[in-house]
Amino acid sequence: MSLTRPDLDALPAYVPGRSVPGAIKLASNEVPYGPLPGVVEAVAEAVAGVHRYPDMGVVALRDRIASRLGVDADRIATGCGSVALTEHLLRAACLPGDEVVYPWRSFEAYPIIAATTAATSVRVPNTAEHAHDLDAMAAAITDRTRLVIVCNPNNPTGTAVRRADLDAFLDKVPSNVLVALDEAYREFVTDETVPDGLAAYGDRPNVVVLRTLSKAWGLAGLRVGYLIGSPAVAAAVRKVVTPFSTSGAAQAAALAALSAEDEMLRRVSLVCAERERVVTAVRKVYPEVPETQSNFFWLPLGDQSAQFAARCEEAGVIVRSFQGDGVRVTIGTPEENDQFLAVLGI
Ligand code: PMP
Repeated sequence: MSLTRPDLDALPAYVPGRSVPGAIKLASNEVPYGPLPGVVEAVAEAVAGVHRYPDMGVVALRDRIASRLGVDADRIATGCGSVALTEHLLRAACLPGDEVVYPWRSFEAYPIIAATTAATSVRVPNTAEHAHDLDAMAAAITDRTRLVIVCNPNNPTGTAVRRADLDAFLDKVPSNVLVALDEAYREFVTDETVPDGLAAYGDRPNVVVLRTLSKAWGLAGLRVGYLIGSPAVAAAVRKVVTPFSTSGAAQAAALAALSAEDEMLRRVSLVCAERERVVTAVRKVYPEVPETQSNFFWLPLGDQSAQFAARCEEAGVIVRSFQGDGVRVTIGTPEENDQFLAVLGI
């Protein structure tokens, strides 16, 4: 007899992008340029105080995020990466059996979080173009739906939802259903028709925006994400957050990173320029790569995915294969991208 929940056996585990010594890692959507200036020093200073608990209210960081975004700090919750905040949001929104609607394929943590918080997953397949099917997502909402997740841009396909489509979708969602806009990759969006969820919908009480410092801000290893919601929703999320889950080093690093915004933007524009170059080149061999608004792109290779990833690995490049579906490749430095392109003979 199992000592833990029997339903966990059937649940696929989260698969992290692998790090292989000596190989180039294009598997976890990280930005390849190291921590932002000031981060290492801020962490070193914070480490001197690690015999004390950190500020559980995360006051200085929430204030800084709030003033950057032009909202009140009572609308912000922070967590151990935005993946943890997604879980907290489900815990705050769903009783056992309540439904959470999300697109598929999308961020692989959604089904795991739904299952372990006892919510019922309602997965809505993406369109043939690998984009969210917002009409089908709206049609999937029932009386039991408590939360709908829109991943914009979508991981792993890179596709993004445009303003007019999201406007129409949100108008169809009942006001007692939360909509989480997962904007982990917001900083990489260059298409002006793709809305900034906070600027466009921040005044809707049922909209919650999830962001992270793991990607553009270069803090994946320190685990800082934040959520912007109505004061009531943000307070509910802060209540269910595991106490002290944003460490003192993480808070200090986040403050330092946010002070280096110009450098962050410079790095993001390098990544976006490389994205353009690499995707244009890859499409010569694989024209089916969908338009991406993120720091990665999707190769819908179906059954060939694992084999493609193995071929890359043999050449010293680690990419992320999603069994039977496709391969996600993160944009790295120009040299790293060249090495990936060389695997394709480009
Ligand atoms: N949302 C999406 C769509 C992601 O791809 C990721 C990271 N892979 C996250 C959220 C979570 O990022 P983190 O927990 O590092 O903040």
